[in-house]
Amino acid sequence: MKVLILGSGGREHALAWAVSRSQRVTEVVCAPGNGGMAQIARCIPADLNSVESMVAVVEAEQPGLTVVGPELPLSLGIVDTLQARGFRVFGPSREAAMLETSKGFAKRFLQRHQIPTAHYAVCTSPAELEKAIEMFHPPVVVKADGLAAGKGVLICETRAAALEAANNLFSGALLGTHEQQVVIEEFLQGDEVSFLCLSDGQHVAPLVPAQDHKRIGEGDTGPNTGGMGVFSTDKLLEPAMQEWILHHIAQPTIQGMAAEDTPFVGVLYVGLMMTAKGPQVLEFNARFGDPETQAILMRLESDLVEALEACVEGRLSDTELRWSAGASACVIASSGGYPGAYKTGFTITGLEAAARIPGVQVFHSGTAVKDGQVVTSGGRVLGVTAVGEGLEQALASAYQALGEIRFEGMYYRRDIAHRALRRSR
Ligand code: ATP
Repeated sequence: MKVLILGSGGREHALAWAVSRSQRVTEVVCAPGNGGMAQIARCIPADLNSVESMVAVVEAEQPGLTVVGPELPLSLGIVDTLQARGFRVFGPSREAAMLETSKGFAKRFLQRHQIPTAHYAVCTSPAELEKAIEMFHPPVVVKADGLAAGKGVLICETRAAALEAANNLFSGALLGTHEQQVVIEEFLQGDEVSFLCLSDGQHVAPLVPAQDHKRIGEGDTGPNTGGMGVFSTDKLLEPAMQEWILHHIAQPTIQGMAAEDTPFVGVLYVGLMMTAKGPQVLEFNARFGDPETQAILMRLESDLVEALEACVEGRLSDTELRWSAGASACVIASSGGYPGAYKTGFTITGLEAAARIPGVQVFHSGTAVKDGQVVTSGGRVLGVTAVGEGLEQALASAYQALGEIRFEGMYYRRDIAHRALRRSR
């Protein structure tokens, strides 16, 4: 079977890598792909902002299965459009993807289904917000309703700062687009865990848990990024806690969506805060996380395509996912200056030496091939990922591989998993 992957980041490179290992797959095509994906798949141009462009690619390629990587095509309804034309697609419908694309929708849904989450108010005007904010003790979290690539969340120390942040979201001063709705939320304290699961609309199959580092600086300091590193080990969640999350959060979400006639088929990414009162939902994503996917898929021992097809065909309950018992870690190498301004086009060396280290895979995010050489083309450039018997071994291999790789301005955090390592020592 031919599988088409829509996307061009590290997440899609990891998906292409896992898909290409499947017995069921004869060809992997990526649209548009990147410099790393071009080494394991055929890459063809596509505009992920345009349903027309993506449909043209699928019509031309006639894949047996299309896997949608990023959130933007989901928000444009690519799954609905392709399904209406008779194609098999892994990903949620536009309405089901609202769990990610509208934070107001997600919060109201959580409340309707009594799934634990922070107290909140959804406001449609500055005046409404000014009134609602009196109910919250600072710090207060202010969130843009729509997709904002991590830039739409502000943690405000005072009510005045929260009001100003909300006004800037409504006016467009912050994100460039006028928000119709702004969510204010109680500030939660605890450790964050990413709990991802596959769903066929009725059943849920959890993936192994992961924890990411969003800040650019070591010690989790400085501005937020798309993610600077992540690790996965079963020790992140005790089996009893994993069961609790499955039964009180993941399954009620999937059952709630089905009951509301918007069944969710795809990957449900639940961002959790492990508070003193128990796990609370911080956010949903309607797709694989980046870089969580790089670390998670390296621990998957069973066939990914079999599981994705089971989701699309509504028979996930018959499918078993098998995982390696150890751990994995993914460390992002970024362009100097990221998440601010940065230059691209620098040659990357040492990729082959890095890939020869046992247990290592180098997933590309922002790379391109120019004159036969792999060059940088984005802020996050590579996700150097490794598996190991334990977290320390996985990290040691990933950092050893990073030691082989060079490009001008290359930066990476040397403290991925620092809290987990401290706890285990
Ligand atoms: P992402 O880039 O992960 O998609 P997002 O824009 O969807 O992010 P959230 O995940 O809702 O936004 O929030 C981003 C981050 O802000 C969280 O990972 C968490 O660190 C912090 N955060 C969000 N809500 C709260 C809260 N209620 N209390 C404390 N911290 C929070």
